[in-house]
Amino acid sequence: MALIVQKFGGTSVANIERIRNVATKVRKELDAGNQVAVVVSAMAGVTNQLVGHVSEVSPLVTQAAWSEYDQVVSSGEQVTSGLLALCLQQMGVGARSFCGWQIPLKTDSAHGKARIAEIDPAAIQAVLKKGMVAVVAGFQGVGDDGRITTLGRGGSDTSAVALAAALKADRCDIYTDVDGVYTTDPRIVSGARKLEKISYEEMLEMASLGAKVLQTRSVEMAMNHGVVVQVLTSFADTPGTLLVNEEEIVEQKRITGIAFSRDEARITLTEIANIPGMSAALFGPLADANVNVDMIVQNVTEDSKSTDITFTVPKGDLDSAMAAVDKAKTKLQYKSLHADKNVAKVSIVGVGMRSHSGIAQTMFQALAEKNINILVISTSEIKISVLISEEYTELAVRALHAAFEMEQA
Ligand code: ADP
Ligand code: ASP
Ligand code: MG
Repeated sequence: MALIVQKFGGTSVANIERIRNVATKVRKELDAGNQVAVVVSAMAGVTNQLVGHVSEVSPLVTQAAWSEYDQVVSSGEQVTSGLLALCLQQMGVGARSFCGWQIPLKTDSAHGKARIAEIDPAAIQAVLKKGMVAVVAGFQGVGDDGRITTLGRGGSDTSAVALAAALKADRCDIYTDVDGVYTTDPRIVSGARKLEKISYEEMLEMASLGAKVLQTRSVEMAMNHGVVVQVLTSFADTPGTLLVNEEEIVEQKRITGIAFSRDEARITLTEIANIPGMSAALFGPLADANVNVDMIVQNVTEDSKSTDITFTVPKGDLDSAMAAVDKAKTKLQYKSLHADKNVAKVSIVGVGMRSHSGIAQTMFQALAEKNINILVISTSEIKISVLISEEYTELAVRALHAAFEMEQA
């Protein structure tokens, strides 16, 4: 007998008919002799609607307001968990639902983006032992302040993987609206190819660089706890994509995937004195303001007297980043300050980069052929990212997909 955690995303539970379809998927695992714990998202569109209601009444500038955000926004998952448990009961399958606090799934108190601290598996195990299905509301937990927390958008993936780790499950199946992880978002490139396997490390890069098929933290957690994760669809019986260790992928392609993110903004400061301490004077206030700085470039002028610094931040942090830069103005004495929201980051990812050369050149050439200007470049061992004008995002992704011949298996 195996213990399986199944997670169903918003599209899979978008209406009652689909929730019934999910219930049949759950029963199938049970009929195969397995124990099943299920994690559900809110019905498609519900979380967005709840976030909309909250922003209508509050600018969300205090911790007290963020606690209420979680109280409201977590409710979508509570509804789905109850509905799925009811559908299972109607089929004659014993089932009970759990909210995060009832497990309890404990988190820190960073409301809106809480991190899981600990899951006590006992209550869920007791239900599974009786041959029943535990249906858990994803995305939510309870903070050390005793209040409901949420795990950041897309957080049900993390709930599922964390639960699988706590229960020492044999597998965590993430059911979504595409039938696996593709070389790039199949909604952007129709020739994108489904990957049979992807390494944890590559998936982690893909997710953190914008491929929202899995929440970044869920991949991090799967990697750290050795959780076997499969991404597949609830709408067909096709095999999905398995997250595996790098050694299990026999033939390494040059590039495994392409990710992109439109959630970027660029800030440039010009003519800062080229002396020690200037970067510290700039990035210190940004860190204090909790702004997550991503790409950074610095260009020293020919006479070495001054330097320009460009960096990127999430779009939502642009205002606080600009305020933080303004605080450092007296020390930095920059000549001008520019901000640009119309940028996107496009990244190629693959462990094959470690053993193949000329990959950056292929990337830059493909972009040049489409007349796409590169604003900033950053690299790590297994990825190269470029910042470009937002309007060229899709063109760039398609051009790179073709240049690296990713359509062929
Ligand atoms: P769910 O509601 O099931 O959690 P999400 O919308 O969060 O689903 O994630 C699935 C979506 O991720 C897909 O519809 C697809 O558009 C997008 N996506 C982005 N990059 C990829 C990729 N490389 N492979 C598959 N899907 C991707
Ligand atoms: N419902 C939440 C969201 O839309 C969590 C999730 O679906 O994973 O972000
Ligand atoms: Mg998701």
